[in-house]
Amino acid sequence: MDCNDPALQSWVASANDPACDFPVQNLPYGRFRRAGDPDWCIGVAIGEQVLDLRRAGLIDSSDMNRLIRLAPPARQALRETISQGLREGSDQRAKFQAALVPQADVELGLPCQIGDYTDFYVGIHHALAVGKQFRPDAPLLPNYKWVPIGYHGRASTINASGSSFHRPRGQTKAPDAAEPAVTASARLDFELELGILIGRPNSQGAPIAIDDAEQHVFGITLFNDWSARDLQGWEYQPLGPFLSKNFASTVSPWMVTLEALEPFRKPWTRPEGDPRPLPYLDSQSNSERGAIDIGLEVWLQTARMAQAGHAGDCISRSNFADAAYWTVAQLVAHHTINGCALASGDLFGSGTLSGPEPQQAGSLLELSVGGKQSLQLSNGETRTFLQDGDSIILRGFCQRAGARRIGFGECRGTVLPAHPEA
Ligand code: CA
Repeated sequence: MDCNDPALQSWVASANDPACDFPVQNLPYGRFRRAGDPDWCIGVAIGEQVLDLRRAGLIDSSDMNRLIRLAPPARQALRETISQGLREGSDQRAKFQAALVPQADVELGLPCQIGDYTDFYVGIHHALAVGKQFRPDAPLLPNYKWVPIGYHGRASTINASGSSFHRPRGQTKAPDAAEPAVTASARLDFELELGILIGRPNSQGAPIAIDDAEQHVFGITLFNDWSARDLQGWEYQPLGPFLSKNFASTVSPWMVTLEALEPFRKPWTRPEGDPRPLPYLDSQSNSERGAIDIGLEVWLQTARMAQAGHAGDCISRSNFADAAYWTVAQLVAHHTINGCALASGDLFGSGTLSGPEPQQAGSLLELSVGGKQSLQLSNGETRTFLQDGDSIILRGFCQRAGARRIGFGECRGTVLPAHPEA
């Protein structure tokens, strides 16, 4: 039976709850460690549990970057074995049961060792909305519909979900000020993105063809690219963002594999009148199934809400397929067209995934219209940008008739006050 068959049930009871993110059809990979244990283990989420793959006798290494390098047939075989063992009626149940640990009892880490980090800009509604704030007459730059725009970020400050970080300081210049000054960012923002994890590397000088691109992608996570808009506004020309972005980013713990996302593929289309991509970014398969239907949510929990036991407010909802102008395969093909080598564990940020409507925006820069309009929260508080103590929680899920709903878990990060001045 196909691993994505919606009729499959697991002997792990919590995995059969229809609202659960991790049914037996999902089987996302992540790294976890038990209390007091310094070493990370490789696990697969199932219901409210984690299956320790080494204890279950399925792998002999704790190196996730090695696992994600597996060729597609080998990783599909591993998925099949895990699925068989966790299904209702499996003869492996006793062995697998001994390898389960509750998610609540473990620390979840970064899903693998992150190599290089590239941040793209595929969210066309985000690019339009932000472009309008700066260039009302020509919000999109002329290259946008031809080039998947990106820049090289920094992997050293990518944090696991659940982490907190200090509000950044840096150079800012108020429009009416004669000179810049060093301040704590007053316009701290989140960015709703997906993280795309590279599995199989390519050699330097060997571009990846668009129809081979997905063989090099292991899975997808949620990703929050925290951004200091005041630092960004002063520093970003001419080479793009720098210190406004590299103080922290947060990634969710579970890599949802392309195999699990298979039932949620969609045709990829361009609006009438938009240019056809250049041949290296175009293929029949990409047009037929390049897009992925992933529902996305942003939740804001203020410190006051957390104290009151309030889970937070959902402040935006969008969808990867509606938001993205380029597909995952196009990003991989574009990144390597010049011969650039990708390595296992490299991370692509998708770019901010705002939907077409203003309330579907994936950043506060858009939701507050550049800080001019406050968001009204359910407990009476208001926000334009983030305050100290605020947490942002990203969620993602795929659902459609005829398939089992799968989820991405959550990507949570909390803002701490700025460090005292150096
Ligand atoms: Ca970004």
